[in-house]
Amino acid sequence: MGGEITATIKGALRKSAQKVLEHTYELKKTAKNADELKQIDEVIEHLYKVAEEASDYSSRFAKKVLKNLDEVSSKIKNYESSIQKLKYEEGMLLNNAKKIEIKKVTQKKESSINWVHISDEKFVRSIITHNHPNGSGLSLADIKMFIGTRLSEVRAVTPEGTVYSMKNKGISGKLSEQLIRKIKNQEDFAKATLPNAPEYIDAFVFRLIWDDIKDLVDYVHYIN
Ligand SMILES: [Zn+2]
Repeated sequence: MGGEITATIKGALRKSAQKVLEHTYELKKTAKNADELKQIDEVIEHLYKVAEEASDYSSRFAKKVLKNLDEVSSKIKNYESSIQKLKYEEGMLLNNAKKIEIKKVTQKKESSINWVHISDEKFVRSIITHNHPNGSGLSLADIKMFIGTRLSEVRAVTPEGTVYSMKNKGISGKLSEQLIRKIKNQEDFAKATLPNAPEYIDAFVFRLIWDDIKDLVDYVHYIN
């Protein structure tokens, strides 16, 4: 072991921290004065950091499946091969039924793509794929787009060629509106709670939303 924290211990610590964080409100109420409240806030902030990985907070929720079981079209697979090694993000929107194919969507940024120039109706029941140069799982931004625009699938290919995919199994239009509202509220809450740790906000909100959607989606990591 040599001073390093093993994955098992890390997992156990993370779970314990998450349990405590479910009771932040009660915890804050125990403060007798402003000084104690400040101390409690610091502990809470620290626990958030233990509970979440800031850079890749979602991959651990994905079910690992061998890549040859990925049934997506060869059009998508070929495109993913062409972008997997890019240092910036680039994406594609595909809808065979509606004959929509929009490739090379990019602003050459390392960790985001702006899709707003594409009209809303083109996203409904479409597939979006893109690359994640840092190799992480689907981000909160990806999930927001997936739910908010009612995609059938959102995918992200890593530099190694593995693919994270989320498919909609049962999120209805009404539920997607509720979820988007909840994400917005939780983001506002997390921003107020964690003013000094913005990098943990997405991780925190993702985990909350994951609990709501885990039975309504297929989240898979297609591995080599
Ligand atoms: Zn992404």
